[in-house]
Amino acid sequence: MATTRTMAIPMDELARATARLPDAEAGETLRYCPGCGLGIVQSALARAMYRLELDLGSVVTVGGSGCYGIMGEYFQSSHIHGAHGRACAVGIGLKLANPKLTVITIQGDGDALAIGASHFIHAARRNIDITVLIVNNFGYANTGGQYGPSTPLGGMTETSPAGCFEYPFDACRLAIGAGATFVARSTSYHAVHMTNMLERAIRHKGFSVVEALQHCHVLYGKRNGMPEATQWLRHFKENTVRVTPETSGRVGPDSGKWEIGVLHEQHKPEFVEMYSATAAKLADRAGAAARG
Ligand code: SF4
Repeated sequence: MATTRTMAIPMDELARATARLPDAEAGETLRYCPGCGLGIVQSALARAMYRLELDLGSVVTVGGSGCYGIMGEYFQSSHIHGAHGRACAVGIGLKLANPKLTVITIQGDGDALAIGASHFIHAARRNIDITVLIVNNFGYANTGGQYGPSTPLGGMTETSPAGCFEYPFDACRLAIGAGATFVARSTSYHAVHMTNMLERAIRHKGFSVVEALQHCHVLYGKRNGMPEATQWLRHFKENTVRVTPETSGRVGPDSGKWEIGVLHEQHKPEFVEMYSATAAKLADRAGAAARG
């Protein structure tokens, strides 16, 4: 990960370098609904990998259950389709077994913030060097569009027909509170910005999180007056503010607006390094005890 490509990337070159795309001649297509924001998130991750010149043989993506769960299969890197909510647990195991790996979990909002919340916050607390991409489409799309921990107040879903009356998590604030050392947010409107956020997150040494707000016009949008992908892109354009020290923390899911950009960055010792140092210390002690 020594250098970074900065020039514009021709799509065919990007696809050759990073993608394992469906066989169009055999009639295969991407398994997302037409126009889904997941395609934009996938392209942003592909561009970040390309720009960082990652050795894809040393990259492992880990996913759980959800529409995003197949995304990792579309890269030339290795992919583990883990159990629902357990991507961080798998990622920790991979990184401890081989610290040279670049580990990226690709999780949905329900996956990371509901069933996987405990795994997520404890991975953040440990500051282990993995990158968590939370793809937030405001509900459980994979199972029909039920409300989830990121559904906005008043959001209409399959299981909140009169409007969701639970307050949503702010995934980024949760990550910062838990100890993550790089936290950023972007949206499916801001494709270039999202690429930059992912590039910085992967480069960061420590636990990094990128929340990608992603439109699901088919399920969440249909019930909330935005059944077209283009309506969502406009919505994200008009309802985001670039984070600055002055705005930081003043807008959030409750306000209907989102901060985008790097919300938090700090440097502190990383878990695998501390684990290795402790193991070496214990080995020294055991050696000294054996020598009497
Ligand atoms: S259900 Fe929603 S999130 Fe899932 S693939 Fe379709 S548009 Fe995308």
